[in-house]
Amino acid sequence: MLARDGWPMEQAVIVFTYAGAPGISSPDRETFWRAFGVPVFEQYLSPANKLLATECDAHEGLHVVSDCEGFPLEYDICPCGNPAPRVTRGSRIEELAGLLA
Ligand SMILES: [Zn+2]
Repeated sequence: MLARDGWPMEQAVIVFTYAGAPGISSPDRETFWRAFGVPVFEQYLSPANKLLATECDAHEGLHVVSDCEGFPLEYDICPCGNPAPRVTRGSRIEELAGLLA
């Protein structure tokens, strides 16, 4: 809607998500891509808005910035080259399936 109303988006959409809530799903990303033609980057925040992890160009999880103890972490080197471990973020369906397992 914003793009249609003449509010151009030329770089990216940054989406803030919060600890305990699901990440951005693939359909969500596709919706942003169709609406704005730009990639989505997720920034994962604590309830006090402290940055916990941030998504890179590789979109292979979110690199830990601080305080991500207890989250499932991926330690393989990211395709972007950043050696910081990544919080794995699956789709909502995958997360729900994980909670029910
Ligand atoms: Zn990366």
